[in-house]
Amino acid sequence: MGKVVELFNCLKLRCSNCEKEKYEIHIDIKNDLYTCECGSHTFIPLNLEEVY
Ligand SMILES: [Zn+2]
Repeated sequence: MGKVVELFNCLKLRCSNCEKEKYEIHIDIKNDLYTCECGSHTFIPLNLEEVY
């Protein structure tokens, strides 16, 4: 249960390049930028409305 709550509170992002969806905690950070495995740094937030 604790793990589910943790994921629910975490921002989910979609890579604008390869369109892979990831929770922010699962995205690599390089040079202070979220970095997808495809090399893109551009992510679109998916669940902002759920968070707020
Ligand atoms: Zn990507």
